[in-house]
Amino acid sequence: MTSTTISRLVLATLGLGGLAATTAFGPPAKPNPPQKGIGINLANIDTSVQPCEDFYHYANGAWLKNNPVPAAETRWGAFNELANNNQAVERRILEKAAANRTAKPGSNDQKVGDFYAAAMDSVGIEKAGLKYLQPRLDEIKNLKSLADVQKYMASPHYSGGWYGMGVGQDSKNSTQYAVQLRQGGLGLGDRDYYLKQDGRSKAVRTAYKAYMTSIFQLLGDAPSLAATNADAVLALETKIAEASRDRVALRDRLKNYNKVPVAQAAKDYPNLNLPLRLKESGLGSAQDVIIGQPEFLASVNNLMANTPIADQQQYLRWNLVDGTTSALPKAYGDANFRFQQVLTGAKQQQPRWKRALRATDGALGEAFGQLYVDEAFSPAAKARAKQMVENLRAAYAERIMATDWMSAATKKEAIQKLNAFAVKIGYPDKWKDYSKLKITRESALQNLFATAEWRRADNLAKFGKPIDRGEWGMTPPTVNAYYNSSMNEIVFPAGILQPPFYDPKADDAVNYGGVGAVIGHEMTHGFDDQGRRSDAKGNLRDWWTKEDNEKFNAKADMVGKQYDAFSPLDSVHVNGKLTMGENLADIGGITIAYQAFQKTAQFKGGQKIDGFTPAQRFFLGYAQIWRANQRPEALRQQVQTDPHSPGQYRTNGPLMNMPEFYEAFGCKDGNKMVRAAADRSRIW
Ligand SMILES: [Zn+2]
Repeated sequence: MTSTTISRLVLATLGLGGLAATTAFGPPAKPNPPQKGIGINLANIDTSVQPCEDFYHYANGAWLKNNPVPAAETRWGAFNELANNNQAVERRILEKAAANRTAKPGSNDQKVGDFYAAAMDSVGIEKAGLKYLQPRLDEIKNLKSLADVQKYMASPHYSGGWYGMGVGQDSKNSTQYAVQLRQGGLGLGDRDYYLKQDGRSKAVRTAYKAYMTSIFQLLGDAPSLAATNADAVLALETKIAEASRDRVALRDRLKNYNKVPVAQAAKDYPNLNLPLRLKESGLGSAQDVIIGQPEFLASVNNLMANTPIADQQQYLRWNLVDGTTSALPKAYGDANFRFQQVLTGAKQQQPRWKRALRATDGALGEAFGQLYVDEAFSPAAKARAKQMVENLRAAYAERIMATDWMSAATKKEAIQKLNAFAVKIGYPDKWKDYSKLKITRESALQNLFATAEWRRADNLAKFGKPIDRGEWGMTPPTVNAYYNSSMNEIVFPAGILQPPFYDPKADDAVNYGGVGAVIGHEMTHGFDDQGRRSDAKGNLRDWWTKEDNEKFNAKADMVGKQYDAFSPLDSVHVNGKLTMGENLADIGGITIAYQAFQKTAQFKGGQKIDGFTPAQRFFLGYAQIWRANQRPEALRQQVQTDPHSPGQYRTNGPLMNMPEFYEAFGCKDGNKMVRAAADRSRIW
């Protein structure tokens, strides 16, 4: 939902084939004595780079040289390596489930096994051809009027296009769910791809049009008709793009929250027939809707009335097929991959088992999450992660109280919010109930449709019920973490609580620099430029004095300018406004982690391991989680669309503001890693 901010640690992670072993987060429960060669691999360091000139390349240079991006990947780094290990565990679980033909019908085992088996069954998928898609295509073909389109969009078979609707927490009244409407309907995901005139944007559009044309031909259109239909969809999506807010504008939580009575919305946007869509969605009793972008809906309202139904059919047809190519004959997936190559630079398609695994994780992640947890995550690991979170929370409170710029009144609210953070670690206490989801071995495509409908029903059923505070937004094997502003919670799946983020065999320095910084990052999202706008209860409410507000903004602006100046490729600059929340979280996260690390026996003892002081190992531990090679296309895509900065700036950006770092490595004024005192940003 747009008005609830879910701030992730990274946008997405992909892995490469292979069956590496997974090292779990724990036990032992007692800290080990420091050991040589554990936690930091000295062979990854590039000693030809000075740590005070470019710490990222000093800490990771040799690793970067020795670990090029595999052919089927677009990026390769610590997150990918770990995801790859987790996928090896998942693969064993899924293959075992798929081999079991005697699972109790309707059980999670049956569903997981059948979903994966059907997705892996390339022969069956080829043989089925369009058998399972055709009824859905016919449905769209039979739309004759705007009223028909409205009816279709209100039905469970509607698979996207025009705008999004769902049920989510009301960010000004976090104890209630609300109906939310938001901008959407763009196959390329980002408005800039449609509107920018640079060479790369044009190349992406050309490839997108070629992809659509191929799909329409595969569906049976003659070549010239397929091209005409692709033109119509691209033209329509371009109009939708013109009406859309850009990613920076979408970050503003207040401007993207507009609550209006249903009757008003029905009057303002008559061509959407909202009353019908609400009624058919079981939301007929809703009094209000929260509209993310009113001017966008106004444009869609006009476009729906003024776009020929024939063009709308092509658009809805495209929306139906684009999301299902993985469950259609090979030629469909190949067309999709040719487009992905231009977008991300990938050289090879991911192996089928990886695509099937990701689809199964996305559809039924919590149905086999327990099996993953049993294999890869111990109760001791959970307890230790919880302890680390509490150490970080205490350190954060100290930093808030020690700030010299914040008033006592604002500090009091900040501490209340910090103390109210709910913490989720590893996996849900209560797993999702999939009993109403029907999965069979018959058709991968049918399973995709069934899953989409189940997910829709699951979301809509929340309306009018108490907030489900046990719900998770990521599956257990995920190598990621998030802060949810309406829940005011920080969430760490089992998947990330492993080396190099957390290694039970490593010293505290490495673990505080790794998962400690991750925990601090998620906590700081509660106090970043958008997160700070909600309070301890998760409600959007301004709890800042005017003066503190201005001081915070001045500090944040400084960070924005710092990151604007970073340029990972010629003519490609980081967008300081787009990445603001993540950069603030990175800077706050490493600062808080260091504060907590200073309380450990290792820090106080000061004993060197492998020639490095505890403080030096802390920063090396931090740098290694961000090591990554990336294809230039993927890097351009990230800079344009991802709120996270590239890994080298997630490392150097925060450290350039940290005197603790300068001191650890003896950096002096004039070194590249040292900012002049007046140019440093320190919020926490
Ligand atoms: Zn984040």
